[in-house]
Amino acid sequence: MNELHKFIFDGLPVRGMVVRLTDAWVEILSRRAANAETGAYAPPVRQLLGEMTAAAVLMQANLKFNGALILQIFGDGPLKLAVVEVQADLALRATAKVVGEVPTDATLSDMVNVHNKARCAITLDPAQRQSGQQPYQGVVPLSRRVHFDNEAEQAEDRIEAMSEVLEHYMLQSEQLDTTLVLAANDSVAAGLLVQRMPMQGLGNLSASTERSHEDDIGKNEDYRRIALLAKSLTPDELLTLDVDTVLHRLFWQEKLLRFAPGTGETAPRFACTCSLERVTSMLKGLGHEEAQSIIAERGKIDVGCDFCGMQYGFDAVDVTRIFTPPEVLPPASGAVQ
Ligand SMILES: [Zn+2]
Repeated sequence: MNELHKFIFDGLPVRGMVVRLTDAWVEILSRRAANAETGAYAPPVRQLLGEMTAAAVLMQANLKFNGALILQIFGDGPLKLAVVEVQADLALRATAKVVGEVPTDATLSDMVNVHNKARCAITLDPAQRQSGQQPYQGVVPLSRRVHFDNEAEQAEDRIEAMSEVLEHYMLQSEQLDTTLVLAANDSVAAGLLVQRMPMQGLGNLSASTERSHEDDIGKNEDYRRIALLAKSLTPDELLTLDVDTVLHRLFWQEKLLRFAPGTGETAPRFACTCSLERVTSMLKGLGHEEAQSIIAERGKIDVGCDFCGMQYGFDAVDVTRIFTPPEVLPPASGAVQ
């Protein structure tokens, strides 16, 4: 069962969410394992992709964005790319591209940030995009600058936890103080988010900017207390305990107001948006000549979906049909002239 639970702390400017993906996560893993070309994910890749999947659901549910939220890591190590896409209705899919071996004890840096070039991107792609409209994208590095006492000296400190990468993003791009706990294994991908609610009205006026910054970003007493409690949750507890137990253990002294969790179609779930139509238009983008040369070489064109493993095959007849303008094609049988 895949669950998403939302709650607020009564009277305090703090909200929270817990996501627990089981069916959806197992589906993603088993489809990957069934792919003869790639095989199953190595455990560190599985953990990272699971944490990203849980985080992307939390971010989408938090923003309530009408379109797709796409969370990506572009790596410079054996893990070249990890992608999670969550639609407005919480339908989700995820995949990763790995080149070479990932040792079982690989850290986040070993996988994606060997040369400190890794980037994490969050893209918001509107459902009804106007022509010429670009999707919004925010990008953060997987390292942070450390200043020494001597201000001229700086060092780059690599971030080793996905939760920290996203906390950093939320603070930098959204000016939102966020605490995340993420975990994933071979049967569960789960996450806890606690966030200071955005300031409205007075707090956003420039005259009070300095003061509100001091008071609100990271220094709000209530938020700090709740964030500390949230951070005391271990990955093992997050993976093994049910949501009620997690919330009770952490926040039993707080006044929690919980919303009814989504179920079935309103809960997070695995779904792929690939289709014959989309693959065909991708093939059109390739061009007739290129498509023909692949046919000449291999006899057919095979396109596999990285997200769900679906295979789309095109032979010479399909390719001719795709690249022939519609008015030249003979009418389909039964078509009215
Ligand atoms: Zn697919």
